[in-house]
Amino acid sequence: MITVAEQTVMNRIDGMAEEMTEFAATLIRVPTVNPPGEAYEPCARKIGDRLRRLGMEVAYPTADTHPSHTTACPRVNVVGRLEGARSMPTLHFNGHTDVVPAGEGWTLDPFAGIVKDGRLYGRGACDMKGGIAAAVFALTAIRAADIRLGGSVELSGTVDEESGGFAGMAYLAEKGWIAPQRTTHVIIPEPLDVDRICLGHRGVYWGRIDTLGRVAHGSMPFYGKSAIDMMGKVMHRIETHLRPGLDQKTTTMPVVPAEARRATLNINGLAGGQVGPDVGTPCVADRCHLVFDRRFLREESFEQVRAEFEEVLKSLEIEDPVFQATLTDLMIVHPVETPKDAEVVSVTARTLHEVLGREPRFVASPGTYDHKHVYNIGRVRQCIAYGPGILDLAHQPDEYCEIEHMVQSCKVMALTAMRLLGTVS
Ligand SMILES: [Zn+2]
Repeated sequence: MITVAEQTVMNRIDGMAEEMTEFAATLIRVPTVNPPGEAYEPCARKIGDRLRRLGMEVAYPTADTHPSHTTACPRVNVVGRLEGARSMPTLHFNGHTDVVPAGEGWTLDPFAGIVKDGRLYGRGACDMKGGIAAAVFALTAIRAADIRLGGSVELSGTVDEESGGFAGMAYLAEKGWIAPQRTTHVIIPEPLDVDRICLGHRGVYWGRIDTLGRVAHGSMPFYGKSAIDMMGKVMHRIETHLRPGLDQKTTTMPVVPAEARRATLNINGLAGGQVGPDVGTPCVADRCHLVFDRRFLREESFEQVRAEFEEVLKSLEIEDPVFQATLTDLMIVHPVETPKDAEVVSVTARTLHEVLGREPRFVASPGTYDHKHVYNIGRVRQCIAYGPGILDLAHQPDEYCEIEHMVQSCKVMALTAMRLLGTVS
C-alpha cells in the first residue's frame, strides 16, 4: 500500500518531469563516447554538482593507474553519498556514463538531446543517461518532500562499462567504494524496460586460438604447413562437434531474448597469413588466429567450457601430427544471478506492482554489465538492474527514452529507496 509520504514523493516526481528530462538531455550533450572514453570528467561534474545540491558528499575517484586512463581521456568516476539517520543499510544507485559511438543512420543529431513526441532522443538516452537522471531525481524528490531516510543512499556515475567497466565499477569495487561493510543493495538503472527486473547475466569466455604453421613459397605449398588450413579444421570441428551440443545446454535463468536461454558461441574475428597491404604474400601462411565469444550458463562450470575447446584442439593433434595450436584466455566473466527472494528484488517488485499496477517480469541479460563487478569484486550479493528505456534501442540509431518511462521508473526507485532504507520523521 502506498503511504501518504510516498504519494507526496510521487507527486513531486510528476512535477519534476520536465527538469528530469532536461537533466538527461544535458548529460546526452556531453559526448562521453567510448572508445576512446571522451569527456568523462565534465559528465561526472554535471552529475556531481547535482548530487552536491542534494546535500550529498561527492568524490571523483579516478582510475589513473588503469591502462585506459590517459591525459586526453581521464577515467573520472563520480560517487555521492548521503548519510542516513543510521549509516547502514546503504542503497547504491550506479549508472555508467559512457556511451557507444553514434554510428550511421541517425535522422537527428545524436548529441543534441532533442525532446520530441514525449521522447528524449540521443546517444545514451536509454543506455543509460535517462536511467541516471531517473535515479538522481528519485533522490531529488525525496529531499524535496523533506523526507529523511533511515539508511544511507549513494549514487555513482562510472566509466567504461561498454568496454568492460574495469576503470569504472570494477575500480570502485577494488578501492572499497562497493563492499559488504558499506553497501547493502545496488540498483543499476540499465534500460531493461520499466516493468522488468534484471537479476543477472550469463557468463562470458573470450578466447583466442592460434594455429602454428611453417612458411614456404606459395608455389610449393608442400614444403610448408598452412596455419590457415589448420584453422579450417578447427572451425569445422567446432561446427560438427561443439556447436550442436551447445544448443542442448539450457538455463533456468530467465534470459531475454529467449533464444539466449542456452549456451552460445560466436567467432568474433579471424586473421591469417602474412597480411600485407593487400590480401597476403605469396607464402604459405605460418600463422592464423581466431577470437571466439562463448557465453556460458550458470549450469556450466568455466573449467568444463574451456575443456571443450581444449578437446577440439587435442583431437586434431591426435589425428594429424603436423597440427599445432594454442588456446589463450582473453576474458572470463562468471555468470551472476541475485536470488528472487533477496530483499532488493522483493521490495522493488512489490513497489513496481503498486506504482505501475502491473506484475513485474523477472529477466536476465544475455550479455554482461557492471553487476559482475558488484558481485565478483565488491562481494555485494544484492544487486539488480532496473530502469527506463527499451533494451532493443540501446546502441541503435535514433536511440530514445520515453519520458513517461523515466517518470515511472523514477517513482519506483524513489519508493524502493524509502522502503529499503526506512524513513525517520
Ligand atoms: Zn548500458
